[in-house]
Amino acid sequence: MTYQAGRHFLQIPGPTNVPDRILRAIAQPVLDHRGPVWARLQAEVFERIRPVFKTKQPVMIFPASGTGGWESALVNTLSPGDQVLTFDTGQFAVLWGTMARKLGLDVKMLATDWRRAPSPEAIEAALTEDRAHKIKAILLVHNETSNGVMSRVSEIRKAIDRANHPALLMLDTISSLGSADMRMDEWGVDVVVGGSQKGLMLPAGLAFVAASEKARTAAKSAKLPRAFWDWEPMLAAADGKSPLPYTPACNLFYGLKEALDMIEEEGLETVFARHVRHAKATRRAVRAWGLDTVCAEPSEYSQSVTAVFVPEGHSADGLRKVILERFNMSLGAGLGRLGDKVFRIGHLGDFNDLMLAGTLSGVEMGLSLAKVPHRSGGVLAALEYLSGTEERRVAA
Ligand SMILES: *Cc1c(COP(=O)(O)O)cnc(C)c1O
Repeated sequence: MTYQAGRHFLQIPGPTNVPDRILRAIAQPVLDHRGPVWARLQAEVFERIRPVFKTKQPVMIFPASGTGGWESALVNTLSPGDQVLTFDTGQFAVLWGTMARKLGLDVKMLATDWRRAPSPEAIEAALTEDRAHKIKAILLVHNETSNGVMSRVSEIRKAIDRANHPALLMLDTISSLGSADMRMDEWGVDVVVGGSQKGLMLPAGLAFVAASEKARTAAKSAKLPRAFWDWEPMLAAADGKSPLPYTPACNLFYGLKEALDMIEEEGLETVFARHVRHAKATRRAVRAWGLDTVCAEPSEYSQSVTAVFVPEGHSADGLRKVILERFNMSLGAGLGRLGDKVFRIGHLGDFNDLMLAGTLSGVEMGLSLAKVPHRSGGVLAALEYLSGTEERRVAA
């Protein structure tokens, strides 16, 4: 391998770029995880993570990738044979449902064409039909990373309430936590699952699970076997009442503390607005190229990732290969049934206008090199939006 000068552009939708501040924070000597210095760090981090979830509920932190958080959510609240409502709306939603099936749950799946999120109306209908209340939980993905479609959670909450159904609402926020607004308490979400390596700008290795009072009550009688993922010792640690039940990913906690500092300095709402803006600029470019986003519903556009179809008969993986080799940039691949049909531009985490401009330039040059039919001018359209030139032109 020859040396490739300059930074690699890691524009997959997670793991994301880890900023230098966080890398430096992680590069510390390892501490005694039962000692007093650690106890203070643990208490601080568990407290300061709650506002990112917009919750007063405890947030548990497991040494795992996000998938572990999925398992933790299921095994603590459900019993063998319980019915769960899941969605064939994208690769991650399907994988969560598949995990539920492996754990012995009775999985009911509502489908879409993978271009929109679960519809509040379909959920309301499924719950209204379930008069016996067999459905115990709804497994919803907030931001479906495989197709760039975001669920309208507050509307789905209202649909559940209209059906007057007691199922627990579980929400995967692995690729939206810290990049899209998520209001656990206001939206009445019972279990929120997050991960460290996307919006939170850390390496992979921390899984977050926040649980409402209703979910914690369900955990008292749930019968699925649980050991590593058990909430009880984690809740005690989150409350500051006891040490963690096993060795935490100590150095990632230093990084998380730094990430929380950065989010507080920028302001959580400003972070969200920055993501909305970059997503809009990206869609401006896609439209100017004459290409289609996978997401077909404007009210469900993701603000952290944009998935783009290549025209029929062309290879998205071939395009990604050219872009990686020529410009040292990684884009996300199409997953599951979207394999080779789409490429995904991650625009989340520690990211700014010029990084987006570089990213879109790499895509536009790659489209030409890979001979994917498109119009030029996508980058320009994005720059006009980012610089405000577009608004001035429209106003004039
Ligand atoms: C990345 C991702 C996952 C998987 O998380 P891991 O950390 O890879 O286990 C699950 N759901 C969504 C929405 C994701 O984006």
